[in-house]
Amino acid sequence: MVQTQAQAGPLVRGETRDGVRILTLENPPVNALGSKVCAELVRELERAETDTAIAAIVFAGANGLFSGGADVNEFHSPAPAGSKNIRDVIASVEKSDKTFVAAIDGIALGGGLELALGCDYRVGGPNARTGLPEILLGLIPGAGGTQRLPRLLASRNPMNNGLAGVQMALDMMLKGETKNAKQAKGMGILDELVAGEVVARAVELAKARAGTKARISSLSFIVLPSLTALAHGMVPPEERGGYAAHKLIDAVEAAAEMEFKYGLAHERRIFEELVRSAPAQAAIHLFFAERELGKIPGLSSDVKAKEIKKAAVVGAGTMGTGIAMVFANADIPVSVIDVNPEQIERGRKNIASTYEGQVKKGRLTPEKAQARTECVAFVGDYAAIADADLVVEAVFESMQVKKEVFAALDKALGPEAMLASNTSTLDIDEMASVTKRPDRVLGLHFFAPANIMQLLEIVRGKSTSDEALATATALAKRLKKKGAVSGNAFGFIGNRMLFDYIREANFLLEEGATPKQIDAALKEFGFPMGPFAMSDLSGIDVFYKIGLEAPRVPYRTSEIAARLYEQGRYGQKTGKGFFLYENGKREPLEDPSVNALIASESKRLGIKRRKVENDEIVQRCLFALVNQGAQLLGEGIALRPGDEDIVWVYGFGFPWYRGGPMWWADTIGPKKIYEQILAWQKQFGAHWQPAPLLKELAERDATFAPRPKVEVSN
Ligand code: NAD
Repeated sequence: MVQTQAQAGPLVRGETRDGVRILTLENPPVNALGSKVCAELVRELERAETDTAIAAIVFAGANGLFSGGADVNEFHSPAPAGSKNIRDVIASVEKSDKTFVAAIDGIALGGGLELALGCDYRVGGPNARTGLPEILLGLIPGAGGTQRLPRLLASRNPMNNGLAGVQMALDMMLKGETKNAKQAKGMGILDELVAGEVVARAVELAKARAGTKARISSLSFIVLPSLTALAHGMVPPEERGGYAAHKLIDAVEAAAEMEFKYGLAHERRIFEELVRSAPAQAAIHLFFAERELGKIPGLSSDVKAKEIKKAAVVGAGTMGTGIAMVFANADIPVSVIDVNPEQIERGRKNIASTYEGQVKKGRLTPEKAQARTECVAFVGDYAAIADADLVVEAVFESMQVKKEVFAALDKALGPEAMLASNTSTLDIDEMASVTKRPDRVLGLHFFAPANIMQLLEIVRGKSTSDEALATATALAKRLKKKGAVSGNAFGFIGNRMLFDYIREANFLLEEGATPKQIDAALKEFGFPMGPFAMSDLSGIDVFYKIGLEAPRVPYRTSEIAARLYEQGRYGQKTGKGFFLYENGKREPLEDPSVNALIASESKRLGIKRRKVENDEIVQRCLFALVNQGAQLLGEGIALRPGDEDIVWVYGFGFPWYRGGPMWWADTIGPKKIYEQILAWQKQFGAHWQPAPLLKELAERDATFAPRPKVEVSN
């Protein structure tokens, strides 16, 4: 075997084996195909082109993965003239007469898979994971993915004129789904799935096929209008975050109708347009905000997270049961205790039926479901959880009960164990005060249903140690949650902002709007449900009790929810709240008696009801949200506006394509919001008090986002 090392750039390793040139991407952590990597690849390909001793080329990736795709950082700024990108690399492949093989270990995502699709053959290892997830950033694949994937899958799945393959390609790109090695082989994305050394097999294949070409670009396929119409019907409308999805379907249509090179140009035009679009900018902002979450200013990098090997949960209610599943899903053994044996039984059943349901839907193998069910142990007392590294308390929302639990846990658990509360609002420091380990006490605020919702607020008490905080942020990642750090303020970030949003929604009721109108206006804005359907879902009783413990505010609050509470209208759980729920259904129906109750409240307060416009509803509720967001930033409760955006997108369903409340505020302009709040202060009173940070930004005409915004088109 001939083996030579030849120079390549620092980001691409070159090696020649038996006339096969192996180009290995070495750009940790994910071998991103940024402009420097692409420039090195293009240079390498130019060199190989003139070298007659090289008959074939294998692309591979170092560090156990192929490539995570384009460098998202480069989406922010226009590429300098002459710089290279993935399209240039694939164009060099396309025009070469040599044979190309992609050796896919680990991930080949986005541009990574597009490069592999530019090759003649794809060989994958058992860990291969392929996908074109650009849609999750409000984009479409921009380096030929929309043109090559349907061609490839139509040819590999020829029944019914290849339409099944086209549908697979559309589905995969529209959902941004990643396929594992077996799935990718079954669909035809991978030509071979090998158990052994992937690069070695790719080299063998390259040698065997040297001199032949099997470019996907030479294939053709058809689509039927009924197929694309179906696809258009399955994605959200353009104005509700579906813009890129509709464009993606157009690009696939172009791939079927146009000659390859024109289809490619069409895809590129769409990509260039999308990358500047407001939804993509919002999604890219969220992508970076998520990466910032774990970065805590002032936390030394010497601080090491502790490994959580065993967890425990106190309280087997709605939250406790869900939290136990979160640990089980991450393969962390967890013990659950509750004072009420009926709740234990309910919890046990709930967990079993959740996993059974996932098996039925094909999301989990029966073996995995059994392993996860067995990961959760229901135990009798504190002695049985004494060896846990972390306990999450999820008992009733009462400081009295929580303090008793914390005192008991402090006595029962080893001195190193961390104690966390899932409280929605209560003071973490007060709970810590009854323990001898306040440095190892913090809040871990999961959202309901805990095993589904991706958000986790990590609440830092005044004594919480850096180690405990680092452990919590590392744990959040392991639990596949987005862990946003919050200071210890009533309601933390999410609920604190929520209270002001709901306050304003209630004032709007008194002034003339109805729950139905307000919910519809905010759904139109993009929330999955309005504030009143949400109150009914969470429980009006829950909000009422939170209100009793909330710090007093120096202004009047609406009493409408209290009237409903007094009537036993707790929301969905009692079949009526702000809305009616018939026969256990979840659909909120307007209740004339609630509208009458609201009208009588207006009368009692001497408010003359008026027609409230939907625009006013959206502005009043959202400016209240933004103002509280600014307040929390000013107080240091929230670290970054991006953290608040993550909390609201992943915890409260704020539409992702608007980037979260603070990103959205920047598109309106803090100055405009500040001036409007001052006007409302005159009109409605002192509860409209602009946050100091909002005022400061308005005076400088600045934005919340630290980064200058890219020019955005709609
Ligand atoms: P829940 O009423 O469904 O469950 C509470 C459980 O705690 C019950 O099973 C009860 O028997 C048990 N319990 C009470 N005292 C106990 C004690 N001393 N020792 C052991 N077990 C005890 O309540 P939930 O909705 O699961 O809420 C639990 C906590 O999570 C609360 O602090 C709540 O504010 C918070 N939270 C709730 C939600 C939500 O949407 N439900 C969301 C986030 C956070």
